[in-house]
Amino acid sequence: MLTNHNVATPVCRLAPSPTGAQHLGNARTFLLAYWSARSQNAQLILRIEDIDSPRVKPWATVQAIEDLAWLGIEHDGEPIIQTQRTELYQNLLDRLIADDRVYPCTCSRKDIETASSAPHEQSITRPNQLAAARTVVAENTLYPGTCSGWHPGDAFPTAGSYCLRWRVDKTWMQFDDLVAGQVCCKPDESIGDFPVTRKEGVAAYQLAVVVDDIDAGVTEVVRGDDLLVSTFRQMQIYDYLGITHPTYAHVPLVVGEDGRRLAKRHGDTRLSQYREQGVAPESIVAWAARSAFGRIDGFPSETETADWTLARWHREMIERFDWAKVSRDRVQHS
Ligand code: GLU
Repeated sequence: MLTNHNVATPVCRLAPSPTGAQHLGNARTFLLAYWSARSQNAQLILRIEDIDSPRVKPWATVQAIEDLAWLGIEHDGEPIIQTQRTELYQNLLDRLIADDRVYPCTCSRKDIETASSAPHEQSITRPNQLAAARTVVAENTLYPGTCSGWHPGDAFPTAGSYCLRWRVDKTWMQFDDLVAGQVCCKPDESIGDFPVTRKEGVAAYQLAVVVDDIDAGVTEVVRGDDLLVSTFRQMQIYDYLGITHPTYAHVPLVVGEDGRRLAKRHGDTRLSQYREQGVAPESIVAWAARSAFGRIDGFPSETETADWTLARWHREMIERFDWAKVSRDRVQHS
């Protein structure tokens, strides 16, 4: 049963996707989530987001758990594994079908790309009360609505040939992000109808993440700002369920010297690789701490922190943690 969480008990989460190795950018997000959680005496759950099965690597879950332990990040309880929770997702999907909130869509990616174009922030006019907010738009093309004429009682296409697509509610949405500030979105012009299952019928990330966060009573979500657009998709599901969405902190991505998102061409930033090379985890934690709080007056200098242990770093960061002080700039890795 999906119901409102008990806000008196804060719950935060770490949610790695085992689709590859965790890298420096992930480490920074995990560390901020950890410090924030401990600073509010929250429970911190670990959820393995392995629902995206074709891309999941068999070694990546164990590796992510080892990476977290290496960084001194402790979570509470046993890891929650998405692929063991498909029944929960299916219950919600059945309800969404009966309620006409989703429809089966047989379009291929190519069908969608040829039928429509990507949204443009400039062409979306914000209402006056959102003048100070930033409009976010999806990178992909908007779904043109080809299959949206389906309604409950109509025949389903052949199993495996369709995904279930969410009918977006068109009303302007906004929220105050702890790092990104006020962001807004006009769902039909910025994101369009989006899939909540894959063609094989398995729940897609957007749906699984909402079910899991509600089920665990998550009150704060910390993740990369590449997921800002997805947050509006997920908020539509919360609104439908009549459940209050968590607080969000979307942290800037880590970029290379060329200002582009950290990738292989910037060198190997996999945490497992640093571990194998004998790099001290303190150096990663120090980098993440400095990139978030280093410009604040009184932040200890490199000389002062030279002999800080992992435990000391965590203690100091938990004590001084404050989202309002976390840098909003993109973080450069050099
Ligand atoms: N599993 C996602 C990632 O590793 C994070 C999703 C989320 O935090 O909602 O990027």
